[in-house]
Amino acid sequence: MIIKEVSAQLVDIFFRKIFFCVIISLMNKVKCALSGETFEVSDLEQELRAKFGFGASLPMIKPKYRFRQLGSFWPHWNLHSRKCDRTGKPIISIFRPECEYPVWQRSVWLEENNPSQADFDFTQPFFDQAWALFKQCPIPHRTGNKNENCEYTDDCWYSKNCYLAHSIYKSEDAQYCYRSLVRDSQGSIFSINSELCNDDINCYDCFDSKYVLNCRKVQNSAFLYDCRNCTDCMFCFNLRNKQYCFGNKQLTQSEYETKIAAWNLSSQKSYTKAKKFFADMMTNLAFHRAQSIDKSEDCTGNYQSENNKAENIYFSQQITDSVNAIRAYESSHYLDTIGCTIGERNYYSTTCQFSTYDNFFSFACTECQFIDYCAYCFQCENCFGCCGLVGKKYCIFNKPYSEDEYFALKDKIIAHMKQAGEWGQFFPGHFAPNPYNESWSSFYWPLSNSEQETLGFRTCEPLHREPVKTAEITEIPDTVDELTEERTEWLLQQIFWDESYRRPFQITKHDITFAKKLKVPLPHSFYMARIQENFRWLPFDGELRDGTCGKCQKSIQTSWPTKYDRRILCEACYLNLVA
Ligand SMILES: [Zn+2]
Repeated sequence: MIIKEVSAQLVDIFFRKIFFCVIISLMNKVKCALSGETFEVSDLEQELRAKFGFGASLPMIKPKYRFRQLGSFWPHWNLHSRKCDRTGKPIISIFRPECEYPVWQRSVWLEENNPSQADFDFTQPFFDQAWALFKQCPIPHRTGNKNENCEYTDDCWYSKNCYLAHSIYKSEDAQYCYRSLVRDSQGSIFSINSELCNDDINCYDCFDSKYVLNCRKVQNSAFLYDCRNCTDCMFCFNLRNKQYCFGNKQLTQSEYETKIAAWNLSSQKSYTKAKKFFADMMTNLAFHRAQSIDKSEDCTGNYQSENNKAENIYFSQQITDSVNAIRAYESSHYLDTIGCTIGERNYYSTTCQFSTYDNFFSFACTECQFIDYCAYCFQCENCFGCCGLVGKKYCIFNKPYSEDEYFALKDKIIAHMKQAGEWGQFFPGHFAPNPYNESWSSFYWPLSNSEQETLGFRTCEPLHREPVKTAEITEIPDTVDELTEERTEWLLQQIFWDESYRRPFQITKHDITFAKKLKVPLPHSFYMARIQENFRWLPFDGELRDGTCGKCQKSIQTSWPTKYDRRILCEACYLNLVA
């Protein structure tokens, strides 16, 4: 009898649970206010929203459009020659000369920082008042810290002797690199712990290799895709633990050496031909893993490793209990973030980095805790609506308060913002110090000026650049071996014009040394053209698309474009292939 009652109760609880789940899942479907598409808000996302105080509402736009909005606040792809607005000295900055914020050379900004303050006016909307204040507050000319001889860089940390490199960390002698931790390398994109590499893309622990994509631990190799623990290999894909393979065929050492001798990779013509060969190999021969997720549990997204409970996450490592994040590292409880690293509880923010905790609706803040609606703050705690502050606590609109005053006023402002429908919204697009076309988002989602205007992004006119050149690109020697002493001196003095990117470039002494050492061609284009060309090998569109496994026809989700269909594999088929 008791057993019967207990089982009846269990059945009842079971059906209540099912009913509850159905209701929740119906409740968690939202029509995107921008595209009209329906999207689902997962239980984990809603759990995080509840933790952050937003559990009673649902997001209004799809994660992809949240990424686009947040990414428009991340200055990218450009370095400008301009003046420091404090000292008048020439600087290389990520901001255009016409940037609405005063731009100060970072070291001056750290030393002399004392931005304007304002009282909060309860008769005005928050964002109107914030903008009136923010545009008076100096911001540092670039992101990054603790570098030596890295003037021509951005977002560079703990690095030495780097040049024309962006988003690099603990790197040395890195040129034309992006989001990497490398030594003595050129053209590295998303590469970690690699050395003496040229055009290594999304690679780990690689050495002395050229044009390697999605590889781990490869050495003395060239034009490899998705190979691991391979040495002396060329034009191979999906290989594991091999040596002397060419075109995935096992050769003897002498056969291999004869084969590669036909490819002189220090020649620009030969290198370009090899790149074409590689692209054909990618389309017609190689197999592609639908999602690149390693050593992770309960994760969706792409390009991630060592994550746990991470949904719709891209280009991230060691993160847990997070949803909708891009470029996150060593973090937990992140929701709707881009470029936020090493922290906990970050929500709806862009590039809030290092020792962050409770960073909400903020951008470009470093080592800050308990901040809301802040920008360009450094080592601050408990700040609300602040811009350009260094080492401050309990500030609202940059004005300091006592701890008690701070929390009382903050609560009143939040109530005021809720009434105006501002609370929970990210900054309007014009708060970005960079135009949309010079943002991370413009790479993935290029928009016309009128589309940008409609969406509230900051627009710009293209910079007018007259071609500057003293010599033609065709005059750059095909291989560095052709360079006599006299010709070297001539080359170092020339300016070349990259017509496709409409930018001038030069060849440096280091380029010549590097080309000789690695037996690779000299640069033949503007550095950013090369960075972006390499970066395109990591396809991403803000969400995964549905597809079918090329072997077993099982449904998959992937970032690979449709041109690779029939060669994109589900995880089981992929693991079987590389076993
Ligand atoms: Zn399959």
